[in-house]
Amino acid sequence: MNKLKSCGIIGGGQLGMMLLEAAKAETPTVHYTVLESQEDCPARPLADAFIKGSLKDSKSLRALAAVSDVLTWEIEHIGVDTLLELEAEGKTIIPKPGVLKIIQDKGIQKNYFVEHGIPTAPFMLKEPTDTWELDRFPGEKVVLKSRTGGYDGKGVVIIKKDDLLNGNSPFEGSVLLEEFAENVKELAVIVAVDIYGNRGSFPAIDMYFNPQSNLVEFLYSPSLVDGKILKKAREIAENVVASFDSAGLFAVEMFLTEGGDIWVNEIAPRPHNSGHHSIEGFATSQFAQLNRILLGMELGPMELKYPSAMINIVGPETVSGSYKLDDGAYWSGQTDVFVHMYGKSETRPNRKLGHVTVTADNIEGLLDRAKEVQQKLRIIPS
Ligand code: ADP
Repeated sequence: MNKLKSCGIIGGGQLGMMLLEAAKAETPTVHYTVLESQEDCPARPLADAFIKGSLKDSKSLRALAAVSDVLTWEIEHIGVDTLLELEAEGKTIIPKPGVLKIIQDKGIQKNYFVEHGIPTAPFMLKEPTDTWELDRFPGEKVVLKSRTGGYDGKGVVIIKKDDLLNGNSPFEGSVLLEEFAENVKELAVIVAVDIYGNRGSFPAIDMYFNPQSNLVEFLYSPSLVDGKILKKAREIAENVVASFDSAGLFAVEMFLTEGGDIWVNEIAPRPHNSGHHSIEGFATSQFAQLNRILLGMELGPMELKYPSAMINIVGPETVSGSYKLDDGAYWSGQTDVFVHMYGKSETRPNRKLGHVTVTADNIEGLLDRAKEVQQKLRIIPS
């Protein structure tokens, strides 16, 4: 049984909201406080208490720590140095802030992969005054990434070598220069580790991205990728996470190259869009699992209950401001479609507004139904 009575969540976005949905169902007596700079945030209505404050400032992070037996985060751009101080002072923080310190800088993260024998795309770290040395990379294009501050593809450009040589870096400061892998498939595995060191993972999935928004558009589980590759991806992900020696929930994002290599791209040490289908599709969802880990419980079972597809509901280019999901009555009448709206009051182009999960008895039925659902999903002004 859980021993802890209070939990602090850094960040009040949709991941915090879904963590609280699971937590309130499973451990209703635990007191959850959310820290967020925006009062109008998805997680606030479900929290027992709310602290309005910056996620980077020592003062607000310490205020959250003061009312919480355990701390976690649902977003990476936060004041990690304060978390390292709090940990040194004896505060329980899951995952370990040291993991966050590594992944907040894509350069440090890549060096970590190399030092730990984790396969990753060939790369170089560059300062603004360095020469590019582009002939070290095959092909016409390379990938340039800002080392800090990027998310959802912001801070990443795929650029022709000639254009880079003839122009300036699109980013200020030091960058990560990486081999461009043509036609990659993007795989992800979510690994859970409890405080006793027990480890489990959800099966690997492949994500289908929207080329304009760079957001995950949909995914299926079980994945249609070759089983041997999925198994290897899961092994690699479990190994990366084992190297952290930390409890927590970790999404390992990987590329499957045309040549069949698996490269770890990055780690998200938190719940992840690639695991939203676990709410309906698995015995324990990624959110329920994280809640268990935070409260010192052992991992829940992680087997598949239903083949499931997840489709993101993203703000269309043509609508801004107040909005609704078209044909609400239809959606509430479906028993195999689960709509999760994140309660954001306004839409903007490419803003994540919600997701739906579709479940079915078999994968063939799932694919047909998911296509039908995807075509019907529409955000309209309200
Ligand atoms: P972010 O941290 O913003 O999500 P990523 O490193 O995941 O940035 O890159 C965003 C997207 O750019 C990836 O999902 C992938 O589609 C593409 N990308 C990034 N690195 C490479 C690469 N080395 N080769 C091919 N495509 C890449």
